[in-house]
Amino acid sequence: MDLCTCLPVYMNGNNMEFKITLLPGDGIGPEVASEAVRVLDVIARKYNHTFEYKERLVGGCSIDKYGSSLTDETLADCQAADAILLGAVGGPKWDDPSAKDRPERGLLALRKGLGLFANLRPVKVHPALVDASPLKPERLQGVDILVVRELTGGLYFGQKIRDTKDGCERAVDTLEYFDYEIRRIVELAFNLAKGRKKRVTSVDKANVLESSRLWRQIAAQVGRANPDIQLEHALVDSTAMKLVTAPASMDVVVTENMFGDILTDEASVLAGSMGMLPSASLSEAGVGLYEPIHGSAPDIAGKGIANPIGTILSAALMLRYSLKLEEEAAFIEKAVDQTITTGARTADLGGKLTTRQMADEIIEQL
Ligand code: NAD
Repeated sequence: MDLCTCLPVYMNGNNMEFKITLLPGDGIGPEVASEAVRVLDVIARKYNHTFEYKERLVGGCSIDKYGSSLTDETLADCQAADAILLGAVGGPKWDDPSAKDRPERGLLALRKGLGLFANLRPVKVHPALVDASPLKPERLQGVDILVVRELTGGLYFGQKIRDTKDGCERAVDTLEYFDYEIRRIVELAFNLAKGRKKRVTSVDKANVLESSRLWRQIAAQVGRANPDIQLEHALVDSTAMKLVTAPASMDVVVTENMFGDILTDEASVLAGSMGMLPSASLSEAGVGLYEPIHGSAPDIAGKGIANPIGTILSAALMLRYSLKLEEEAAFIEKAVDQTITTGARTADLGGKLTTRQMADEIIEQL
């Protein structure tokens, strides 16, 4: 008998080494990031992997230390890593709108510098948490949505003008998309749909916007090339409504930068707390950045009560998409699921557990 076949998977000597750049950031960022690292340490021991961390500053803490929200050295460390795990950036200390650098600029520079064109946000509602959501429980049953947001084009990156015209102050933002930018994000959405329920909703505003008409044209082309996937075109306004009236009817939702920004925040309400949801930002070159969807939560920073689940699930996405460790990723997700089922809750979910205690419960399940 081949000895290997009777050994558990974690004993099979697949000692893989991965370089992870850790960017805890500001506010609750370091509190939740350190718990995700503890979970990863358990995975490393169980599956015999080595995760080598380089911890670097980004956001407000980087402005304080280096006078820049993202230094060239930190960007280079991110580019050289297999993956990046981020906590959150920002806070009232750096909120002066006239400041020449802001924490969020560091994040945008990181996305641009790493070519992170796709932001993935899975939204699942745990059956035990339906009461934490403002929606009626029956609407939440079976919700399992993956929002795929284009991240490096559109209104946020188009030409901006601020001037005076005909004696009036004027501001212009430009919504620009090239066909290849639309094609690569829609193709990614179709690929992801293949491992799910095989349905893609492409969201645009094609009845008004020229950029959306190009979006719809390209999405239709990708749809014709993938007849096994059901493609539906939807307007962003009706999608916003459907997200709260019939969320369980949606599978993969793909959309441009600003629509995605707004729809993903709306979708996060379904899960009951901002603290629950992870995200992955992917590039064509391979390196990915993983972070919870929430911000630095200055109102609870330093209290040790933040929910670490969004960051722990982000670490799971990192294992799945960047390190190709599907079994390990699913193992973390199952442990989080079981932890919620046992009734473990941080304050945002109506419980009393601290950040550390919640992570302890998850590690116990692992
Ligand atoms: P936020 O997500 O930080 O907080 C919104 C609310 O959700 C707060 O009441 C907060 O206490 C709560 N919350 C968030 N995460 C939580 C968690 N893990 N556990 C429990 N409760 C949690 O959004 P905000 O207050 O609008 O922004 C605060 C700062 O974060 C701002 O400076 C903003 O620019 C920044 N921000 C950063 C990111 C990022 O780093 N990607 C994203 C959004 C906002």
